[in-house]
Amino acid sequence: MMAKKDVRVRYAPSPTGFLHIGNAQSALFNYLFAKHFGGTMVLRIEDTDLKRNVASGEKSQMDNLRWLGIDWDEGPDKPNPKYAPYHQTERRDLYDKYITELMDKGLAYKDFATEDELKEMRDKQRANKEAPHYDGRWYGASEADIKAAEDKGLPYTIRLHLPKDHTYEWDDIVRGKVEFNSDNLGGDFIIQKSDGLPTYNFAVVVDDHLMDITDVLRGDDHIANTPKQMAVYDALGWKHPNFGHISLIYNPKTGKKLSKRDKDTLQFISEYKREGYLREAIFNFIAFLGWSPVGEKEIFTKDELIKAYDPKRMSKSPAFFDQHKLDWINSQYIKSMSSSEIADRVVELVEEGQTPIAKKIQEDDIPNLHDYAEHVIDIYKHSVFKLTEIMEYVDFYYNILGQDIDYSKLNDFSHEDLEKLFNALEDKIHEASENGQNKGLDYGPIVNEVGKETGMKGKKLYFPLNVIFTGDTSAPQVAQIMGLFSPSVISALINKALRGIE
Ligand code: GLU
Repeated sequence: MMAKKDVRVRYAPSPTGFLHIGNAQSALFNYLFAKHFGGTMVLRIEDTDLKRNVASGEKSQMDNLRWLGIDWDEGPDKPNPKYAPYHQTERRDLYDKYITELMDKGLAYKDFATEDELKEMRDKQRANKEAPHYDGRWYGASEADIKAAEDKGLPYTIRLHLPKDHTYEWDDIVRGKVEFNSDNLGGDFIIQKSDGLPTYNFAVVVDDHLMDITDVLRGDDHIANTPKQMAVYDALGWKHPNFGHISLIYNPKTGKKLSKRDKDTLQFISEYKREGYLREAIFNFIAFLGWSPVGEKEIFTKDELIKAYDPKRMSKSPAFFDQHKLDWINSQYIKSMSSSEIADRVVELVEEGQTPIAKKIQEDDIPNLHDYAEHVIDIYKHSVFKLTEIMEYVDFYYNILGQDIDYSKLNDFSHEDLEKLFNALEDKIHEASENGQNKGLDYGPIVNEVGKETGMKGKKLYFPLNVIFTGDTSAPQVAQIMGLFSPSVISALINKALRGIE
C-alpha cells in the first residue's frame, strides 16, 4: 500500500432516491481510494433538500452499499465523536455560525428579491443575449433598505459575494488543471435558502472542512460547483481539499449520459441484485467505469482492485456502460465460485421474493431448495450469465411433469427405436431401484448400459433423452439432469413420452 498521510474521503449521497449505478460509482472510487491509501471513508447524508428526500432513500443507499461490499469507517451508524453528526440537517448550528461570520465580514448578504423579480432579471438578460446571472442588486444595500424589508417580514436568501475577475484553478485528480473565472459563475450565489437551510455548495464546504476531508472524489456533473465551493473556502479563510471529478456513465445506445429515463439499462443496484448479478461482478464492473488498471486482466477481486487502484489511471473520457461486458464478468464469477456458494445466493434471492421467478419458486416450496439449486448449478454454471437463469431452471425441473414438451422434435426417429430405448431405460431404473438404489441414483452408468443393451449411441441415444427430460434437443449432461428427478417422476416422464410420440 502506498503511504499517503491521513487520507479522509467521503461519499455524500442525498437521500432523494435509491442507490443508482452512478452513486455506486462515486462510492466505489472513494472506497478504493480510502482503502488503497490506508485512509478513512466517511458516509455523510446530504439531506437539506427536504422536499426531495424520500423516506427509504437513506436506508436503500446504506443497504445496497453494504450488499456491494462498500463499507465506510465513519457515518451515521458509526459516529466518530470528533466529527459527528453525519446528517446535514443535524448540523444547522454549524452552518449558521459560519453564515453569521461571513455576514459580519461583509462577504455574504441578504437578498430580498422575489421570485418574480429574479425571473424578470433573467429574462431581460436573455433578451440582451447575456448569460443569466444574479446582478448583485442587494449587495451593499443600505441599512435602511434592509431594515424596511426585514420589518415587512419579507423572505430572503443569503448570497456569497464573489470577487470580480478572479481565477479559480485546481489540479484535478482526474482531469488535471481546471479553471473557472468568477465572472462566469452566474453571479453571487445563494448559500442559505429562504427556509434557513444552507445550500449544497455551502454545507458541503463546511462539512468537508470540519470533517478533515483530504480528497473529494465525485461525479463530474459537479465540476461547475467546485469554483463556487472554492469561493466559500476562500471567504472562510480555509484551504480546500484535492478535487477529482469522475467521468460519468454514458449509454452507448444514445451516446449520452446515462439517464433515469433510459429503459434499456438497469439503473439501481437493487435491480442488478434482483436480476441475479453477483455483488463481486458488479463491483468489478463498476471499477472499470472510469478507471483501468495496467495490463489486460479484467477479472479482479475487491482486494486486487484495492491494491491495483491508482487515481492517476482514472479516465477523462466518458465511461460507456457495456451490458455484454457485465454479463460476461458475471458469468466468469458464476463459473469460478463453488456451486454451494452460488446456491446460497439463489436461496437469498428466493427468500427476498422480489422477482416473478423468485415468487414462483417460493410457491414451488421445494423441500431442500439449497441442495436442489446446487445440483442445478453444477449442471449449468458454465452456460449461464445470471442467477435468474438458474432460478428458471430450478423452477422448470422442479415442475417437470407439468411442462409442455414438444415430442414432434422426435419425428426423425422411428417409433420402434424410441419405444425400445424408453422401455430399456425404464427397466434399468426399475432394476436399480429394486436393488435399493432408490436415492441418489447415478444415471450415468444406467444410460451407458441402456446404450449397450439397445445398441444405440451418440445422437440416437442422447437426443431423445434430452427431449423427454429437458424439453430441449441439446442439454448438458442429461444423466446429471435425471438425477434431479425421483425414479417415479422419471417413469412418469417416460410414459408421457411414449404417449406423446404416438
Ligand atoms: N449530495 C451530493 C450529490 O449527491 C454530493 C456531491 C459531492 O460529493 O460533493 O450529488
